[in-house]
Amino acid sequence: MRETFTVETSERVSVEDVTDAVQQRVPTEIGQGLCTVYVPHTTAGVTVNEAEAGLLEDVESVLASLVPADGGYAHDDVDDNADAHLRSMLLGSSVTIPVTTGELNLGTWQSVLFFEGDGPRRRTVEMSVIASH
Ligand code: ZN
Repeated sequence: MRETFTVETSERVSVEDVTDAVQQRVPTEIGQGLCTVYVPHTTAGVTVNEAEAGLLEDVESVLASLVPADGGYAHDDVDDNADAHLRSMLLGSSVTIPVTTGELNLGTWQSVLFFEGDGPRRRTVEMSVIASH
């Protein structure tokens, strides 16, 4: 099955914990399967890691140091957001999480983290959940 939900951000760059939004859209009748969370945007991304407030700040600062805002990028001549594209590429546009009895098989400290690189915006997140039997 396919599901979508939206993420609204209030700053240009932010990391949002979307675990609950994902979990509540996984059908309880899925015994064993896979849940893919996909971000259909070129300046946003998704990853799985710990949603600790300090670590979320660290993600933003490390991405900013790896990909400085004023890096003299060729794409900035087009729409001045090359940093957002490049930071998003480092995280990727999808994650796949195993599902057992309708529950995401996330580790104790794992959360699904949405990365906004060029906000504030309203973004769509797509989910595809496939039963393996
Ligand atoms: Zn662009």
